[in-house]
Amino acid sequence: MRKIGLFGGTFDPIHLGHLLAAESARETANLEEIWFIPTAIPPHKPGPGADARARCQMIEAAIGDNEAFRLELVELEREGTSYTIDTINELQERHPHTQFYWIVGSDMVNDLPNWRKIDELVERVSFIGLERPDQPIDESELPSSIIKKLVRAQMPPLGISSTDIRHRVREGKSVRYMVPNAVLAFIRGNDIYGT
Ligand code: ATP
Repeated sequence: MRKIGLFGGTFDPIHLGHLLAAESARETANLEEIWFIPTAIPPHKPGPGADARARCQMIEAAIGDNEAFRLELVELEREGTSYTIDTINELQERHPHTQFYWIVGSDMVNDLPNWRKIDELVERVSFIGLERPDQPIDESELPSSIIKKLVRAQMPPLGISSTDIRHRVREGKSVRYMVPNAVLAFIRGNDIYGT
C-alpha cells in the first residue's frame, strides 16, 4: 500500500505555512507523497481572490523543487462545492492500493465530527492533525472512531495566512519570506491581488 497525504485548501496563495505543514505531515506519518488539492468552491468561505489557474500555477511554482509534492486537480475538475468524502471516493476509485491521509489544521480538528458523512470518511482515511505547541489538539471533544484514525503532527507555529498575504499585496507591503520566491515572482509578474 502506498501512503499518500492529501492537503486540501484554497491556496490563495500557497504560502510557507502550507509547505511546512505538508512537510511535517509527510515526515511524521512517513508518507510517500503529499498531494495538494486546491478547492473549487470551499463550503465554508467566500470565493477566492485569484482564479483557479493562477492558484494552480502558484502551487506548481512553490512545490516544483520537491519530488514528494504534487498538484492534484480532482476538486477543480469536479467543480461545485467540494466535500472531502466526494474527493476521497473519487481518488480511491482512481488509485487502489493506496492508503490516504487527510491533513487538517489544528483549528479544524475539533470540527471533524461535523464534516459531511464523517462516519463513512473515517472508515476510508486516516487524519493527520497538525498540532502547534501553543494549540494542542483537544481529544476530549472527539469521538473514539476519529481518535483511532488520528495521527498528530507537530509543527512550529508560523503565523502566516493567505488572507493576510492578499491584504499586504493590495496595500503594497512586502510578502517576501512569507511565500517561496517563485510564488513572489508570480504574484508580482502577473499582477495578482492588485499589485
Ligand atoms: P485564508 O487566509 O484565505 O483563509 P489560509 O492561509 O488559512 O487561507 P487555506 O488554503 O485555507 O489557507 O488552508 C489550507 C490548510 O492549510 C488548512 O488546513 C489550514 O489549517 C492550513 N494552514 C493554513 N495556514 C497555515 C499555517 N500558517 N500553519 C499551518 N497550517 C496552515
